[in-house]
Amino acid sequence: MMIRTAEQLAEMSGGTIDARYADIKVEGVAIDSRNIEGPVLFVPFKGEHTDGHRYVEQAIAQGAAISFWQQDVPDAPDLPLIKVDDCLTALQKMSKAYLKQVNPTVIGITGSNGKTTTKDMVASVLSPKFKVKKTIGNYNNEIGLPLTLCQLNEDTEVSILEMGMSGLREIALLSEIAEPDIAAITNIGESHMRDLGSREGIAKAKFEITEGLKGLFIYDGDEELLKPLAAGYSGDKQSLGFNADNDQQLRDVEQSDAVIRFKVGASNSMFELPLLGLHNVRNAGIAVTIGRKMGLSDSEINQHLARLEMTGMRMERLEGPAGSLLINDAYNASPTSMKAAIDTLSTMTGDKYIVLSDVLELGPDEEMYHREVGRYFEGKDMTLIATGEAGRFIFDEARHFVPAHYFSSKEEVTDYLRSRLTSETKILFKASRGMKLETIIEALE
Ligand code: ATP
Ligand code: MG
Repeated sequence: MMIRTAEQLAEMSGGTIDARYADIKVEGVAIDSRNIEGPVLFVPFKGEHTDGHRYVEQAIAQGAAISFWQQDVPDAPDLPLIKVDDCLTALQKMSKAYLKQVNPTVIGITGSNGKTTTKDMVASVLSPKFKVKKTIGNYNNEIGLPLTLCQLNEDTEVSILEMGMSGLREIALLSEIAEPDIAAITNIGESHMRDLGSREGIAKAKFEITEGLKGLFIYDGDEELLKPLAAGYSGDKQSLGFNADNDQQLRDVEQSDAVIRFKVGASNSMFELPLLGLHNVRNAGIAVTIGRKMGLSDSEINQHLARLEMTGMRMERLEGPAGSLLINDAYNASPTSMKAAIDTLSTMTGDKYIVLSDVLELGPDEEMYHREVGRYFEGKDMTLIATGEAGRFIFDEARHFVPAHYFSSKEEVTDYLRSRLTSETKILFKASRGMKLETIIEALE
């Protein structure tokens, strides 16, 4: 955690402070006045509905040591304040200054899907060797990333940062704050199509991660849209993917019900991942490449991958009633990741069901994307259970290829599945976060 005097923080954030408060000791940062733990710096944001400045007094009463105060907000109370031009910019500036002082190796990860997974994998690979701090949960935006930086310790050696976005120039900002030594793009999907208009736009936005980059750039080399962009990056770079023309080819993939094995690049070392899904081979390939770059041997990397700890609901394997297997991948979804889930289940044996519902935020082409997922069932061997409004489009196409059922409520889905549970049953759940498919899993359990 960042421990500094108020005077130091004022300097790091480009703010000013009354000399009376200069020596106050500050430990960490908080943005929610209901969550003050210890003598933190409180950062009040001006939101659409409410202004954090209204809670400054409360935060200090709760134990905050000091607070930012934006110059243009009138009636500053006579309390320990650091006056700044803009609270968000000041937080970003301060976190960047702190990062420079701690000076760890910085790894930035972006992409449409797989950021959190890859971050967790990289952390698993590096943690036994280095003092690692990673983004907590999904703290990956213009506020979350600076907060993550403020949690670095004085002796942190590696900072792993997830970088998310919903529009152009957002990743550029994060990359310029963090100035990564290594950066990776996991993939280009369709999320945020509504804001960016096209997959080209998304690729361009993700590629902004190279703007602050100081060293190795790793990217999905199977993605045509990234090739021309990467060609314009003059630094150290490695393309990664299943196609043979990649610098690091993912090859000799063997998938069973419990693990996937694969090789990365020219080396004959075999890696084993306690997870499912070909997309996870991509994510793990990034972790392997970063591990190698950081000087770990392949056997060390492999041992560390085996102990992977994942943030929940990402291909989580749960034991269901009657010895059935429930695979909870309901954390989030895009059309790309739904197809990946269909592929994953395809490689498994047994009496297989896939429960799909809406992918949200797809914009005006929503119907087309859902129908495309439906057509992806061609040649597949599983039963589709669809629910949700847009889920109907998936069902409408898929029913030509596989046994398929549409239910308008989750209760009906649950009742149907309950009657199917045997030790041979495998059910994979996937939809956007907002659809809350995990409630079906809870009901089944
Ligand atoms: P968010 O934008 O919500 O933070 P994220 O990028 O962090 O998402 P994860 O949480 O790691 O992504 O994974 C979300 C889902 O995306 C997974 O459950 C999986 O279905 C899918 N996914 C993960 N990695 C990939 C990949 N490399 N390619 C395609 N789909 C993937
Ligand atoms: Mg994430």
